[in-house]
Amino acid sequence: MLSRKNFLRALGLVGVAGMVKDLDASPRRKPLVVSTWDFGLAANAAAWKVLQSGGYALDAVEAGVAIPEADPKITSVGYGGYPDRDGRVTLDSCIMDEAWNCGSVACLEHIMHPSAVARRVMDKTPHVMLVGDGALKFALEQGFSKTDLLTPEAEQAWKQWLEKSEYKPEPNWELNHDTIGMLAIDQQQRLCGICTTSGQAWKMHGRVGDSPVIGAGLYVDGEVGAATCSGLGEEMIRSAASHSIVEAMRSGMKPQKACEDVMKRILKKRGNKVSKTQVCFLAVDIHGNVGAYSLLKGFEYAITHDGRNEVLQAPYMLNE
Ligand code: ASP
Repeated sequence: MLSRKNFLRALGLVGVAGMVKDLDASPRRKPLVVSTWDFGLAANAAAWKVLQSGGYALDAVEAGVAIPEADPKITSVGYGGYPDRDGRVTLDSCIMDEAWNCGSVACLEHIMHPSAVARRVMDKTPHVMLVGDGALKFALEQGFSKTDLLTPEAEQAWKQWLEKSEYKPEPNWELNHDTIGMLAIDQQQRLCGICTTSGQAWKMHGRVGDSPVIGAGLYVDGEVGAATCSGLGEEMIRSAASHSIVEAMRSGMKPQKACEDVMKRILKKRGNKVSKTQVCFLAVDIHGNVGAYSLLKGFEYAITHDGRNEVLQAPYMLNE
């Protein structure tokens, strides 16, 4: 791994990828589900039930992320998520299937399961993305009920933040950020993905991160592979990170190499502007090979296959 100090000079060196554990070595048997961070474990377990019974990967990912979305203790996704600087909990989510069908909602308030609404956008509208009031109107028309998403704990944290009102996204501070992105392959080898978050805590009202942006926080090509991201969303939007990773796989790279390649590109373009923020990638190819990589130490992901359900540390590029 590189020290941050020397990373620009070191970008020319070969062998960074070779220094990390090669996750590509053993293709895994289908079905498979992976998701970001340790809260992915419980989410994967719910998705696994669908996959194990022969269900559709799209239903599996939707069922999976519904777990952290409803958990008030997880302060970066759904109910209990930390609000923006105006005290409003605004949620971002998207979903994509193996055949490029996709749906997305951004800056959605008062609905506990934005991913389920994103699925309805995909299934029931001629559009891909609905935002703000329009997304809420659609959700209510579809029968979703209104919930106050701001828990007393989140409100207290917000009031504490207001005392200084400094917006400083911190790497791996799980109270401040951490999206769940989930990718699954079902028994028929259909590959689908989903991504859901309350976004960066204390963001400006109306800020939309990478998580609902197809190609940034999530991208799926059912013939190639899929990728999802967590970390500072602005960096994923700039780099079209998930799409870039999938395209790298299309060109023949295994998921691990594809993640490392795109990270290297981000670092080259962004240099010191990105070197203190967290950027996390998780990818699978259609054969079930998995790749995970982050800019800084601390990214974890949950993997479930063949009845195993475990959290692994991702390799990373820079020492802090
Ligand atoms: N990517 C999310 C966002 O920027 C937050 C995160 O995953 O940490 O909204």
